[in-house]
Amino acid sequence: MISPTVRFAPSPTGYLHIGNARTALMNYLYARRNGGRFILRFDDTDTGRSRRDYADAIVEDLAWLGVEPDLVVRQSERGDLYDAAAQRLRAVDRLYACYETPEELDRKRKRQLARHLPPVYDRAARRLTADERADLEAEGRRPHWRFLLEEREVAWDDLCRGPQHFAAGSLSDPVLIRGDGSYLYTFTSIVDDADLGVTHVIRGEDHVANTAVQIEIFEALGHKPPAFGHHNLLTATGGEGLSKRTGSLSLRSLREEGYEAMAVASLAVLIGSSEAVVPANSLEELGERIGLDKLSRSPATFDPAELKGLNHRQLAEMPYSAVSARLDAMGIGGGERFWLAVRPNLELLADAEAWWARIEGPVEAVADPEDRQFLAEAADLLPRAPWDGDVYETWIAAVKEATGRKGKGLFRPIRLALTGLEQGPELKAMLPLIGREKAIRRLTGRA
Ligand code: GLU
Repeated sequence: MISPTVRFAPSPTGYLHIGNARTALMNYLYARRNGGRFILRFDDTDTGRSRRDYADAIVEDLAWLGVEPDLVVRQSERGDLYDAAAQRLRAVDRLYACYETPEELDRKRKRQLARHLPPVYDRAARRLTADERADLEAEGRRPHWRFLLEEREVAWDDLCRGPQHFAAGSLSDPVLIRGDGSYLYTFTSIVDDADLGVTHVIRGEDHVANTAVQIEIFEALGHKPPAFGHHNLLTATGGEGLSKRTGSLSLRSLREEGYEAMAVASLAVLIGSSEAVVPANSLEELGERIGLDKLSRSPATFDPAELKGLNHRQLAEMPYSAVSARLDAMGIGGGERFWLAVRPNLELLADAEAWWARIEGPVEAVADPEDRQFLAEAADLLPRAPWDGDVYETWIAAVKEATGRKGKGLFRPIRLALTGLEQGPELKAMLPLIGREKAIRRLTGRA
């Protein structure tokens, strides 16, 4: 296979959400796996809604996921290309001027429906004479431009959905240029895909219905259409679709809440596939696991609770080297020993702060009065420095023997005194971090 070129084409009208991340990653992983190129294209021709700060945020959020584009283009800077392509379509009589107002079109549709006809544009504008057109323009009407569809069946072999076919003749000729001269997405997208040599269009299945028309436009412009793959969409737990307005599911807010990028990426890609939803350690590993052929055909539900679980699993296996800089930045010491001790107990990395505070102290001494004597005895039995790796086992064995306590009666008061909590990371790992001096103070109630 020649090396593929793919693109992710958001309109910068909001922050990316996890569903957009799915599309971006499906493209990026496809390119990386096959030694190809990944283009980030901003569909920003809607100048009213597109914003530069959203575009910048999209670049930043993708970088957080590890997605680095090979090229970034903006449709707002490519007007000449669209003008030239429109000229080419006019030259082959596939783009024609129409003058109907929205109200006139609406009346036509109603008449068709009343006669039980499909509400398809009747191409009346193609029958206008030059004089009639001149009259309409003299009235001040500005034309919008429609693409003349060929009435044929368009077929493609979808990378996700298998063979597809669509009778393009059953559709209205799509408007490609509005009355104010601005272009519609379906046109600019094709001009760009052709110009940038996009070989694979991988996008959400909400675009399946556009594909037949787009294939016809590629061909009318003299280009071989790219391959298409329409992946299943993610929905929120209530079943509704995700949109850039669903702020709480934006990548930005997930990042701010402290989720790991790889947990988010793993979930965004693996839900709704035949692969197990377990976190990958790198995009490379994720790319090896997922393929477009592994996606299910029905929508997948994004459940924030599942992300929590995945984040926990990710942290529980994360090597110290992957996290040390962030722990330093959080003012957490203790090095690798601390990390290995607490990582099974974290949902978010920020939870490490609370464990570090438990180690550093002060910890409010918690002891039942009837355990005080026992704890004082235990304190006396703490091995002398220096402590080696087995200090906890040695100590507990001595406490057991001296006090005759075992099980909950032994471990609970010790954990409570040392950490102030009923539960937490293994004491075997915590004790050396707390250190002898603090341990004695806590056990004897002088914390
Ligand atoms: N801007 C379009 C969207 O966000 C791109 C669709 C496509 O990938 O062709 O839906």
